[in-house]
Amino acid sequence: MNGAGIDALRHGRLPSGATRVAAVIGEPVRHSLSPVLHNAGFQAAGLDWVYVALPVPPGGAAAALDAVRLFRLGGLSVTMPHKEAIAVALGERLSENARLLGAVNCVRWDGEDLWGENTDGGGFVDSLRLEAGVDPAGAHVALLGAGGAGRAVAVALAEAGVGRLTVINRDTTKAERTAALVGRRATVGAMSAVQTADIVVNATSIGMGRPAVDGVVPCPVELLRADQVVADLIYQPLRTAWLTAAAERGARTVNGVGMLLYQAVRAFEHWTGVAAPVTAMRGAVDALIGE
Ligand code: NDP
Repeated sequence: MNGAGIDALRHGRLPSGATRVAAVIGEPVRHSLSPVLHNAGFQAAGLDWVYVALPVPPGGAAAALDAVRLFRLGGLSVTMPHKEAIAVALGERLSENARLLGAVNCVRWDGEDLWGENTDGGGFVDSLRLEAGVDPAGAHVALLGAGGAGRAVAVALAEAGVGRLTVINRDTTKAERTAALVGRRATVGAMSAVQTADIVVNATSIGMGRPAVDGVVPCPVELLRADQVVADLIYQPLRTAWLTAAAERGARTVNGVGMLLYQAVRAFEHWTGVAAPVTAMRGAVDALIGE
């Protein structure tokens, strides 16, 4: 081994027999940003951990959990199409929000066995609070979209003490199911409710993909006001046409990178018990996504 290799070994930058392994399972998983986020975090925190992406085909969720037990992995991230199947396989061993959502994106050890968490919605609320300085407690939030991400955001907003939540979705049955997760503070609304909200969140996939296309927006931009906070869960592109229009109207805007970052921060802390090096993780994801 050359001098650089020995140096890397001494400083714990190469895996050894003692290295803990964490992983993300999904299909497709090759383009996941999670390995970049977590490996940057492990390195900056000086932890002898490594994070890899493992393709697992549909139907493989329960076997993947057995593999986590067998290999004593330090933690597991779960992405499409396994979030629901992992929740079913973990049975009662779920956090309150993972149970409500019927979806798990983070598996950790609780001392005895594996335990399922959902850090997606909490990651969004963290990004609002920590990156935009906005607390949703008591606010009126208009939520556009009621898919997996929309549901996770709705439940986390309820936990954060949202004052009123209006769920707006093309498929109104899904909007009703999402509002029901929150209870009496939530209603299904029409697009016009955007006008009266303090915070407007796009949890639809409208506007996703590079480059941003003018006119491809989840709600008419005329409904947005200068005194609103406008958040888009999309991070590719970083500035959707909708966020650009909202900023032009004077609104404070928040893109989806913060949610991506803080759901990983929460997972990192569940697995390692160590405060996540947020600046290093943010730097790694920014370098990859770029402006
Ligand atoms: P889903 O497929 O579960 O939901 C898609 C949502 O978009 C549904 O509400 C759907 O409405 C709506 N939608 C899609 N196309 C249209 C359309 N043409 N007109 C009206 N509504 C439409 O996706 P997810 O919930 O998983 O993801 C939603 C977005 O959030 C994606 O852009 C994703 O990239 C982003 N995301 C970001 C994360 C982050 O970390 N920043 C994490 C997770 C997701 P309907 O129910 O009527 O079909």
